[in-house]
Amino acid sequence: MRLPPTSLAALAFAALAALGAVGCVHAQSRTPLAPPAPAQAAEPAARQAEAPAPSVAAAPAEAAPPITFAAVGDVMLGNAYAYPDPSKALLPPDDGATLLAEFSPVLEAADVAFGNLEGPLSDEGTTRKCKWPPTGVCYAFRVPERYGAHLARAGFDVLSLANNHVGDFGDVARVRTRAVLDGLGIRYAGAPGEVALLEVRGTRIGVAAFSVSAGTNDLRDVEGAARLVAELRARADLVVVSFHGGAEGAAYQRVPHGEEVFLSESRGDVRRFAHAVVDAGAGLVLGHGPHVVRGLELYRGKLIAYSLGNFATYGGFNLNGPNGLTLVLEVQVAPDGTFLGGTIHPGKQLRPGGPRVDPAGEVIQILRQLSAEDFGAAAPEIGADGTIRVPAPAPALTSRR
Ligand SMILES: [Zn+2]
Repeated sequence: MRLPPTSLAALAFAALAALGAVGCVHAQSRTPLAPPAPAQAAEPAARQAEAPAPSVAAAPAEAAPPITFAAVGDVMLGNAYAYPDPSKALLPPDDGATLLAEFSPVLEAADVAFGNLEGPLSDEGTTRKCKWPPTGVCYAFRVPERYGAHLARAGFDVLSLANNHVGDFGDVARVRTRAVLDGLGIRYAGAPGEVALLEVRGTRIGVAAFSVSAGTNDLRDVEGAARLVAELRARADLVVVSFHGGAEGAAYQRVPHGEEVFLSESRGDVRRFAHAVVDAGAGLVLGHGPHVVRGLELYRGKLIAYSLGNFATYGGFNLNGPNGLTLVLEVQVAPDGTFLGGTIHPGKQLRPGGPRVDPAGEVIQILRQLSAEDFGAAAPEIGADGTIRVPAPAPALTSRR
């Protein structure tokens, strides 16, 4: 969804200032920050506490127009922290202003554009990840705060802050990240119990985000995840679940059964998690974390994307082969989350990074194959042009004598 440029940030700051909230961090679902975009407004806390609005029952679900999501995986627009040489920050040309330009139209056009913010937006904080004297490669990301404006301009509405990098620069940077996003009117979810609430044409949308990292909702606590989703479902018509989980890299594009262990760390049982959150009421599940794409599954009529891969990861990322393939996943869902259709918008990142439209559509064929291999009849139908459909029911067997 397109956010009005500077006026919105100014209004948001004014609203916060009027409430005396500037400089404070609020549980986001309580932030009475209402960007004046007609189709998306944060609900006042008082209304959220009330019983579900009766208007939902008054309008037949089939009459409501679909809601369009545009979802991407990991977003890390540039690293101001260079290790081991602090003078060599890995920041993009134009200071990032054009990095997302090719996919901005599809993000803007969606009712809700989602991404995983793989690193804090902060000019402050220190990291304990990288040792001195240097002991080798170390991935600690600190994205300049001014880059938040690029995310808003590209059309992002809501971001996951549940991943293994958002805490790279400690609590100071976590606080700065939320303050920057609040100022831009971008919602976020990820800290334990923290959810994002949006509204699209009267449909209340709740977003919860999970990972295996400290300071976030833990996807390995499947029962706890289901509980959070069920609680959110009581406050929202449609619940979207984001998760950052699974093993990483080109060798891990298949979705296994059971728990995944990577670098001696449990990365969750993503099939069990995804099914459990749908059982608890989620209408759309968006996975990321493996840095490569994984298959799509339809479960109880809801779409699960097991990994959206890297989207815009600038700098020291491995972008070889499947690591460099990306997409914007456009999905149309009914207001209850039932999957209606979608489109894969294929892209590619070349070193040092930044998504470019891929006219060859390489990622489409890969998603098609992975989905079929891992989910068989539960895979959605994916056309060569990237169209995603609910598979037609198998023709009834008739016998003639
Ligand atoms: Zn990650």
